[in-house]
Amino acid sequence: MSGTSNTLMTRQERGTGVIPELSQTLVEEYLRCGLRWQFRQDPHHGRYSTIPITIGVSVDRASHEDCQAKLREQQLPLQDIVDLAVTEYGNQAAANEYTESRWEIGRGKDSTVAAAVAYATHTSPLIERLHCSQKRRTVRLVLPSGREVDFAGTPDYETEDGLGDLKCGKKWQRYRAVQSRQLTAYGLLYLNEHGHWPAHVWIDNVFHERNRWSAQRIWATRSDADYRAFLHILERAVDGMEQGVILPAPEAAWYCSPKWCPFYRRCPAVGV
Ligand code: SF4
Repeated sequence: MSGTSNTLMTRQERGTGVIPELSQTLVEEYLRCGLRWQFRQDPHHGRYSTIPITIGVSVDRASHEDCQAKLREQQLPLQDIVDLAVTEYGNQAAANEYTESRWEIGRGKDSTVAAAVAYATHTSPLIERLHCSQKRRTVRLVLPSGREVDFAGTPDYETEDGLGDLKCGKKWQRYRAVQSRQLTAYGLLYLNEHGHWPAHVWIDNVFHERNRWSAQRIWATRSDADYRAFLHILERAVDGMEQGVILPAPEAAWYCSPKWCPFYRRCPAVGV
């Protein structure tokens, strides 16, 4: 790889960062919507969720167990994957608060079954030569100003091909995988651990479209320019968080909706 790679980060040890460790999830949430990030920081807002988000969490949980079985060189039967997802859906539904009705929450369970079947049928067979699953990694990054921050993330899986992430819910278009900051961030964590970029990054997308669940894999790669851009964006996010800059989601953002934002019914930016 080019020398640029070495300028992106220095050492891995922890401890003297000016701000607390940043997680990829929270940084991305801040970049998408500062208000949602702020809601998440406030313990009084409890654990709100929506049915589509819960379905995604449930399939993600089943996938993790599926990957653990693969690492033991076992293959989970389809029914086990479905049962794991349904159990997680029940746990989440009991633990979280929803604005949807009990009837709608019950229908979400049926949808979880169909999503888990799509994962087991289409996505699981593609997850081969697995190295690890949901392994949390941290890295100390040097931002363009020279400031250092500790950054953490948990890619869904690493295989001989690189890094993949499971997304369950909306159908992804190719451009989203190509531009995904999350995949870029995971690439940085991979670089820190292996000394080179992942050969590929990809999204395993289990999606609901025209009343049925299906799945696709979208491959992408990353260049040094992607990583430099990410560090610039990360520095702007850190500055914004520290200075208390709290912006709402951009106009017409798909995730600013009752379906995809758990805080929609409480959000001043939509007139509540
Ligand atoms: S409803 Fe929209 S603006 Fe409000 S927190 Fe959710 S995503 Fe952000």
